Formats: sequence, C-alpha cells, structure tokens
Amino acid sequence: MLKINENYLKLQASYLFSDIARRVADFQEKNPDREVIKLGIGDVTRALPRACVQAFHRAVDEMADDATFRGYGPEQGYEFLRQAIAEHDFQARGADISADEIFVSDGAKCDTGNIQELFSIDARVAIPDPVYPVYLDTNVMAGRTGPFVDGRYQGIVYLDSTRENNYVPALPDEPVDLIYLCFPNNPTGSTISREQLRTWVDFARDQKAVILFDAAYEAFIRDDSLPHSIFEIEGAREVAIEFRSFSKNAGFTGTRCAYTVVPRECAAWDSAGNRQPLHPLWNRRHCTKFNGVSYPVQRAAEAVYSEEGQAQVRELTDAYLRNAAHIAGAMRDLGYELVGGDNSPYIWIWGDRDSWEFFDLLLDRAGVVCTPGAGFGRCGQGYIRLSAFNSYDNVARAMERIREALA
Ligand code: PLP
Repeated sequence: MLKINENYLKLQASYLFSDIARRVADFQEKNPDREVIKLGIGDVTRALPRACVQAFHRAVDEMADDATFRGYGPEQGYEFLRQAIAEHDFQARGADISADEIFVSDGAKCDTGNIQELFSIDARVAIPDPVYPVYLDTNVMAGRTGPFVDGRYQGIVYLDSTRENNYVPALPDEPVDLIYLCFPNNPTGSTISREQLRTWVDFARDQKAVILFDAAYEAFIRDDSLPHSIFEIEGAREVAIEFRSFSKNAGFTGTRCAYTVVPRECAAWDSAGNRQPLHPLWNRRHCTKFNGVSYPVQRAAEAVYSEEGQAQVRELTDAYLRNAAHIAGAMRDLGYELVGGDNSPYIWIWGDRDSWEFFDLLLDRAGVVCTPGAGFGRCGQGYIRLSAFNSYDNVARAMERIREALA
C-alpha cells in the first residue's frame, strides 16, 4: 500500500487569495455598478521592456531556421546570460561573483522552494514573520516542522518583523542553521542597511549557518546606501546563497526567468564533520531536475543588461515607484503609520484593527482591494499590504476614493 508524505497534511490551506477573490466577487454581485481597483496583487501590470521584446523576437526567428535552431541548452543557463548577470549585477557593484556561480532558472519561487533539499532534515530553520509563504511551506513539506499550533508551525524559529524593530528582525537568541531573509521585503516593503546585513552575515559565520537571501525586489532600491546583494558584504561568499528574478525588474512574471547565486566557498557539513561545498550539490540538483530556460527567454533576459534595456527597466520600476510614493503619501496624509513604498513596490500599513476588517472597509467604502497582512503570518495581523503594481491612473483614483472613505 502506497503511503503519502504526511507532511503535506500539516500544511495550512492558503485561503488568502481565494478569500480575497470570493469577497471581491460578493461585493461585485451586490454592487454591479461599482468599479473595483485592485491594489492587492504582487503581479506586474506593465508590458515587457522593448529591448527584451526585440531580443525575444530575434531569438524566436533563430529557432525557426535549421541553421540557428537550438535544442536543449546548458541546464545552468547560457554563458551569454550568466556572464551578463555576473558583470552587471555583481562585479559592477564590487561583489565578487563569477558566471559559473550563477544558475539560471524559471523562477525565484521554484529556487527558494527547492533549495532546502540540500540540507538535512534536522536543520534548524529561521523564517521571518510576516513572510513570502514559499519558504515556510516548502520546509513543512520536507518534514522540518511539527504541526501547526496557535498560528505557527512547531520547530520553526520565527523571526518577528514588527514596528519595534522597524521590520528588520533581530538575530535569534537560539542556535539556527538555515536563515531566510528577503530585502527589499515582501510583504512589508522594508529594507535592510549594510550594517544590519553585516550582523546577519557575521552571525551566520559564527553559527556555521547559511543565509538564503531573496533579492527579488532589488531593482526598486533607489537609496544608494542600501545593499543590492548580500555579496556586497564581506564574508558573505562563505555563508550565503542569493535569489534574483527578472519578474519584478523587467516584468517577466509571465515570461519566467530568474537565477540563483551559489558561491564556490559556500558550504555546510556532513555527518562526519566534513565541510561540503554547496555549489556542486546545487549543480547536481539543478541538472538532474531541471532542463534549462528556453533560449528566447534567456535572450530576452540578456537584453535587460543592454544600454536600452537598463534604461527601460529603470523607467518601468520608476513608474511603479511613483505609484508607491503616491500610495504612501496619501496614507500618511490620512494619519496611517506605514513602511515601504520608497525602495519597494509594497506599502505595509498599520490599520490598528483586524486585517480583514480593514480589507472589508476599503472594499465596501472605497471599492479598493488590498491584501490583509494576517495572510502573511501572525505578525501581519493588524496590517494591510498595498501594492504599486497598477497604472498611475488607477492608483490615483484608488487613493482619492480611500481619502474620501477614511478622511
Ligand atoms: N520571492 C519573493 C519575495 C516574491 O515576492 C516573489 C513573487 O512574488 C518571488 C520570489 C517569485 O519570483 P518568480 O516570479 O521569479 O518566481
């Protein structure tokens, strides 16, 4: 008799986005004449940069000709893309990362979810709260947690991100082996300073731990003092893996391309106490279970690093940041305490009431959809997340309606 992986039974069904959709559908049924503006989603809304589209087209034409057709490519990604990434995203910022430490993939969601396969089942895992749920759920699936009790999985070390620590968690006061960090953060929009990140790197070195650093929103950083990569911090090569994505900088959410950086020095230990580099393990995992991102998509991603591509990505992220600034300004004017919205497309707003109650209020009175913070973890209770991924017109109208409803 075949048995299931019972860890899956521990998972809490994620009702967040289906609950939102149901409440919005109910509202629309009762109010067919009212237009709803969605500022809840984390998906981009603007078209791909022209440079990417042109490169995409050219690559598709290559696939249409026997002489230039490409079949399976290298699982780790084409050299042209890995080289462009290493030069522009790391070496240009003084981070010593080489092309062969970059693994191109079809998404940071898969990579942040899959990476935990490299580590032992008894690894002590530290995960922020509130959090992008993938880090947590994939560790539950793997069996690194106990049951879900009082809103939390037993066995996880939760890193509370609250107004008291300005949404940058403090170092845990117990030993941990694997640490998830995400900056600029989803859902809070908070950022981490170089000094704060250095304390995490030093802590990981001290603990013989590894930091899994999710920098999917790096392109929204405008404050030059903030680190774009954990590899800008001295000593990080030995204790960090970084995840990046083309989803939010260049609008690839539906096109799919991302990458993971595993430095050659980064290591963990085997049961005999020998240091084992993670690069060959991830390489093995990637080559065994993944067959590469399509050639046209990798050419489109490469175009992000062309001169026009860089300018167009800047324009794209600037447009979302303009929305974010508008949202943050309007909510501050109304007297709300918030974080994010300057180096991030997300604004995390303290509602001073139940997250769902605030959600219903904004929907009923203003016809605006947000994301209730409680859906991201216990520390999200009392907050809502507004997202800048929409047109400026919609954002301006949404904020005007919120102003009228809440003023
Ligand atoms: N990491 C974070 C923090 C995210 O918010 C998201 C998407 O919303 C992802 C990763 C997923 O990125 P990708 O589209 O590359 O899978």
